[in-house]
Amino acid sequence: MSEAIPCKSCGNAVSGLYCSACGEKVLTPDDHTLKHYLGALLNAFTFADSKFWNTLKAVVLRPGELSAAYMDGRRVKYMRPVAFFFLANFIYFAVPLFETFNTTLNSQLHNQQYSGWAQRKVEAHLAESGRTLEEFKVLYEPASANNAKLLLVTMVFLLLQPMSVLYIRKRRFVSAYITASFELMGFYLWVATLALGAISFILLSAQQAMGAAVSDRSVDELLAIPLVILHFWFTIGIGRRFFVCTWLGATWRAAAMLFGLQFALSAYRLLLFQATMWSINA
Ligand SMILES: [Zn+2]
Repeated sequence: MSEAIPCKSCGNAVSGLYCSACGEKVLTPDDHTLKHYLGALLNAFTFADSKFWNTLKAVVLRPGELSAAYMDGRRVKYMRPVAFFFLANFIYFAVPLFETFNTTLNSQLHNQQYSGWAQRKVEAHLAESGRTLEEFKVLYEPASANNAKLLLVTMVFLLLQPMSVLYIRKRRFVSAYITASFELMGFYLWVATLALGAISFILLSAQQAMGAAVSDRSVDELLAIPLVILHFWFTIGIGRRFFVCTWLGATWRAAAMLFGLQFALSAYRLLLFQATMWSINA
């Protein structure tokens, strides 16, 4: 019934609803109705889009499925892993409540492997600028909170290192490891931020209600347990579904990825400290 018409985007002869060369949709009179227009407008905000919910559901309930679908060429049902990560990054950016990946000056100066070095850097800065530690802190904290969000994408490439070492030869293409790293970081952002944010909020409120003093450190330590459980859930899933490991292979790699995560977080914090020192000195 439908005759071939030239595609509006590439000129290829189209005989169905979509161009077989570039994927452009052929507009029908329906596409110009107000109802359709408003629907498209809503979809632009992604949340009304079933793709978003399919993706979030897959990432939470069946980790590894998103990357597997993408690499196997099943790309219609889900968002691209990169887009999923950047959407999570955007929301993390927009909601000032989420500070999971930020690191306080106090923690930088006392809880990290490189804290001795960081202390010397800060002391040198104080001597040069004539600021007190308190004055410096007032500059440091908001700059760090901002940089923590800007630098989030570097976590993807820091996680890529242990990921490609542990699952070496499980997938043929480098792009597969990058895809899995985007899914992994997307998972951490969505699930870990929301879940851990809720848990730490409850813990802080409970401790405040009981009148106990709360330090960054004690919350960090309490959060370590749910973080480890979430980590195992996700990395075993990615090992099983994406890298097609056995249960044993997926489990020991998930355990080893804990060190990979530790490595990535330390490198990220170091980078964050360095970037924040630069932005204050600039
Ligand atoms: Zn076309």
